[in-house]
Amino acid sequence: MYFKARIITRMLVAAAAAGMVGGSLGGCGKQEPDAASTKQALSASCKAGADQMGAFLPRIETQEPVTVGIDSRFTSAQQSEIMKSIDVWNDYGRKNTGRDFFRASVTRVPGGSQPAAREDCKFSAGEANGSGFRIVKEDNSKYWKSLNLSEQNGAATVRCSSGGKLLRQVVMINTTNSPPEQFMSISLHELGHTLGLGHSCTNGAGTADYASCGSLQPDHAYRVAVMYPVLQLFGDGKVETKELLRQNDTERTDCLYKP
Ligand SMILES: [Zn+2]
Repeated sequence: MYFKARIITRMLVAAAAAGMVGGSLGGCGKQEPDAASTKQALSASCKAGADQMGAFLPRIETQEPVTVGIDSRFTSAQQSEIMKSIDVWNDYGRKNTGRDFFRASVTRVPGGSQPAAREDCKFSAGEANGSGFRIVKEDNSKYWKSLNLSEQNGAATVRCSSGGKLLRQVVMINTTNSPPEQFMSISLHELGHTLGLGHSCTNGAGTADYASCGSLQPDHAYRVAVMYPVLQLFGDGKVETKELLRQNDTERTDCLYKP
């Protein structure tokens, strides 16, 4: 069986000078959606636009909350930020799909819980039923680079799918690359990936079914979404945070999970 691995990353773009907002988009654009994933049936109540139809990844199939193992090597402050982001998704899940998405606990993460290389799908997700996943602390810069990730990537979610079905996934957070003020925002974003949300827009040129991030106004729904591929660093110590789900995030979650 052919296993397809996709790395979905969170870009952090530093402004060139203090007070400036901006910077080039990159990196994340290389991960084009799994074509098969766009064939999954979306909910009848799906309000996502035609230009986001290419922004969906294979959903989690199980109806039960999935088990999430949070690496015990995260500091207690980091663990608490991750738990907060899990609560945000669970609150939404309970109110709108009738269930919690995640059931999380802190755990010791054994070796072999991460891909050995960019295309490796043999890592252990920790759950026999394939629906659980781990959130791993990964600060090794050499390893990070081997996955084609840079210092601008605060975190990455690796999802393995076959025939448009999710097989396993892992979230890795590089705590060196993730400013503490953005930790929860980053975790919230990666959890969106684990649910099957791709970026709200693509860093590439864009297509009819996947809008380009490049031309979006600052207040555009795709730009303000948690699933936008970039969080800004403003260079004067200020950072952009997104700790609540925006309309576009919840609308697209409904597409995958609303009964
Ligand atoms: Zn991302």
